[in-house]
Amino acid sequence: MNAFEYRDGQLYCEDVAVADLAAEYGTPLYIYSKAQLLHQLGQIQEAFAETDPVICYSVKANSNLAVLKTMNEAGSSFDVVSGGELYRVKQAGADTTRVVFAGVGKTDEEIRFALECDILKFDVESEAELDAIAAVAESMGKVGRVALRLNPDIDAKTHEKTTTGKKGNKFGMDIERANQLADKVLANPHLKLSGIHMHLGSPILTTEPYEKASKKAVEIVAAYRAKGHEISWINLGGGFGISYKHEEGLPASEYAKVIVPQIKEAGCRLTLEPGRFIAGNSGVLISKVIFTKREGGKLFIIQDGGMNDLVRPAMYDSFHRVWPVAPSIEMPANAEATPDGCEAADVVGPICESCDYLAKGRHLPPMQRGDLLCTFSAGAYGSAMSSTYNSRPRAAEILVDGSNVTVARRRETYEDLVAHEIG
Ligand SMILES: *Cc1c(COP(=O)(O)O)cnc(C)c1O
Repeated sequence: MNAFEYRDGQLYCEDVAVADLAAEYGTPLYIYSKAQLLHQLGQIQEAFAETDPVICYSVKANSNLAVLKTMNEAGSSFDVVSGGELYRVKQAGADTTRVVFAGVGKTDEEIRFALECDILKFDVESEAELDAIAAVAESMGKVGRVALRLNPDIDAKTHEKTTTGKKGNKFGMDIERANQLADKVLANPHLKLSGIHMHLGSPILTTEPYEKASKKAVEIVAAYRAKGHEISWINLGGGFGISYKHEEGLPASEYAKVIVPQIKEAGCRLTLEPGRFIAGNSGVLISKVIFTKREGGKLFIIQDGGMNDLVRPAMYDSFHRVWPVAPSIEMPANAEATPDGCEAADVVGPICESCDYLAKGRHLPPMQRGDLLCTFSAGAYGSAMSSTYNSRPRAAEILVDGSNVTVARRRETYEDLVAHEIG
């Protein structure tokens, strides 16, 4: 399914014309499709059903409360990486006893908050963190359930800034160290080892890394059980890729094919932490062309959406499809196509940084001042990573459900920009 489709030369989100939303709510504007969010989650729930999984939507991909509530109502749980994310999950009305908490730098305050919420498990990334969880749990008369985050030394072939499961990353620990920590857990009545965790990086567009990781997981679970741990969870993290260009993303069932048999063999339940797979293609960013200019032999399309709204191209050299909301020609299936009547252009924002662009050298139909451009696949790591750099109020966010429209976040104002400052 694709909730963002052209009908009679106009881009729609479900049953609503995107141009109408831009006219009413202004630009830059994030638009999310509820049906697409639910469809993506449903695909994962169905593909992995045999492992009685707890699907933990990764809050950092898109932490808007409307998205979290949508996930919660559809039976998803949550993967958090900070106390702030845990707070959001609570605000969304979720059952925190199914939440998992990852991240290399959990503070004592965050650990205490998580123990108060009785979360399912901490994904522990170091010995010092294990000691901190034990100490805080003891002071509260509680037991911290932990999963050791292993660095399986698997190259997931993603961008160097988004690979996490290779030796030399700050995440997780190697298997020898994990073995020592497993022994330490056994000796501490305030800790319980209930699982193992691996998150390999993102986005991953092949199944092999998951196959390798889940095979390793089966061996490690057996070894820990032999030591006397009751291991009931294998957490394979997130990272499932999506189609940014043209059908390069795999369906959830392909990942399930290599993961499910291993989980069953281990006699464990599965946790997954999908973020991008759920939110990525469930959202777009709509911007308005301010000016066009030709300089240095290039055509620049300058729009009101920039790197403060969507930082992925500047930060990770990411590719996002960009296409007019009301194009004069049909959108090509492949985002890198060079259709007739189009000209190569750099689509840039107004921020005073040379890296402020959303697309480079992209063949687009002629664009004029006031035209709307859509940046696709912007639902994950878009608004969640946005900032007010250059003192630009953050964009509004809209959730569409059929023909219903909800403002999920109002546009920030100039007053909002200075609201926390003393001057
Ligand atoms: C970021 C992250 C995820 C989500 O990754 P996606 O690629 O969005 O699925 C899952 N688990 C952990 C620990 C993460 O840091």
